[in-house]
Amino acid sequence: MAKGIFPIEKLERIDTPFYYYDTELLRQTLRTINAEAGKHEGFCVHYAIKANANPKILRFIREAGLGVDCVSGGEIEASLKAGFSPSKIVFAGVGKSDWEINIGLDNDIFCFNVESIPELEVINELAGQKGKVARVAFRLNPNVGAHTHANITTGLAENKFGIAMRDMMSVIEEAAGMKNIKVVGLHFHIGSQILDMGDFEALCNRVNELQNELERHRIIMEHINVGGGLGVDYQHPNRVPVPDFKAYFDTYAKKLKLRPGQTLHFELGRAVVAQCGSLITRTLYIKQGAIKQFAIVDAGFPDLIRPALYQAYHKIENITSEEPTQTYDVVGPICESTDVFAKQIDLNQCRRGDLLAIRSAGAYGEIMASQYNCRRLPQGYMSDEI
Ligand SMILES: *Cc1c(COP(=O)(O)O)cnc(C)c1O
Repeated sequence: MAKGIFPIEKLERIDTPFYYYDTELLRQTLRTINAEAGKHEGFCVHYAIKANANPKILRFIREAGLGVDCVSGGEIEASLKAGFSPSKIVFAGVGKSDWEINIGLDNDIFCFNVESIPELEVINELAGQKGKVARVAFRLNPNVGAHTHANITTGLAENKFGIAMRDMMSVIEEAAGMKNIKVVGLHFHIGSQILDMGDFEALCNRVNELQNELERHRIIMEHINVGGGLGVDYQHPNRVPVPDFKAYFDTYAKKLKLRPGQTLHFELGRAVVAQCGSLITRTLYIKQGAIKQFAIVDAGFPDLIRPALYQAYHKIENITSEEPTQTYDVVGPICESTDVFAKQIDLNQCRRGDLLAIRSAGAYGEIMASQYNCRRLPQGYMSDEI
C-alpha cells in the first residue's frame, strides 16, 4: 500500500500545506546516479539547483559528491553556502548580469556556459579587471527537438538559448583572441522531462558531428556538457520512484564519442529530486457543484505552479482515508480558474481534514512557490527530521 510511505501521525502535526521529502528515496536516487555514471570513464554529474534549492536537500546532494549547475548569481551563492566546491560549479543562462559574472569570477568557478558573443565580451572585460582568466564553454543550440511540452523545449533553432551551430567556429576563433578567456568546453541542453532516449541519441549524433569538425581544425575541448532533461514517471511515482539512470548514462556512453582525456558533464535537475517530494495539503471543503464534486484544499498554485503553468499532471492520493473512491476535481483557494491540481480523478472518499499528497513535486515545486495573495511560503521537511 503506497500510503505506507507517509507517516500520517507525524504529518498531522505539521501546518499545511508543506513539502515532504523522502530522505531514503533521495539517498537511493543519488546512489543510483553515482553507480550508473560511475560505470563510465570521465562522467561528471552536476545537480541543476534550479529544480530545488532547499538547503536540506542540497546537503544530501553535496555529500553524494555531485557538482552544481547554476543559472543565476543567487544560485551560485546558495551552492557555496551549501558547501559545494567552486571547482564543481557551472554557470549557464542567456542573461547573466555583471554582478553575477563577478561572483563566478571571484570564486573561480569551473566554467561559464556562454550563450552569445556580447556575453563573452563582457566576461572577458570583467575577468580582465580582476586579472583573471575565465573558463568558458559555448552553449550551442543543436536544433534537436525534445518531444516534450513546448514551454520546456530549449534546443530548437527558434528558442532563445545558445549559439547557432554554424557560428561555432567563428565564436571559438573570436574567443582565441581574448586574453582573459579560456575555452574549455561545449555545452548543450535540449529540454526537460525527456523520456525518449532517442532524443538524447539525436543530441549525441549532433555532438559527434561538431567534434569531427573541431578536430579538422585541430581543436579538442577539455569537456563536453550535455545538460540535463531526463524525465520522471509522474503517472507512477510508486512503481518507478527512481528514473532509469542506467538507460540514460548508457545511451551517452554508447553514442557519444569522447576524445581521449575528455570528460562528459551532465546537469540533472528533475530526475534527482522530483520523486522524493510531495506537497501535503489538507482538505478544507467538499463542495457539490452543478455537475462536479470538488475537493477544495488549502494548497494553491502559489505553492505548486506546475499544473497551472504547464498543465502538468501530478498523481494525488488521499493519505488519510481508506474509504471507497469517488471522483473529484482537486482545486485550491486562489481566485483564478487555473488554480486546479487535477480534474475528474478518483480518490478515496475525501472528508474535511483529510490530508492529500500531491506526488512527484520535489522538482520545480517549493522553489517556484510565491507569496501571491499574501500567503505564507510552504515549508519543506525531510522524512528523517519530523
Ligand atoms: C533547467 C536546466 C537543466 C536541468 O533540467 P532538468 O530537466 O531539470 O534536468 C540543466 N541545464 C540547464 C542549462 C538548464 O537550464
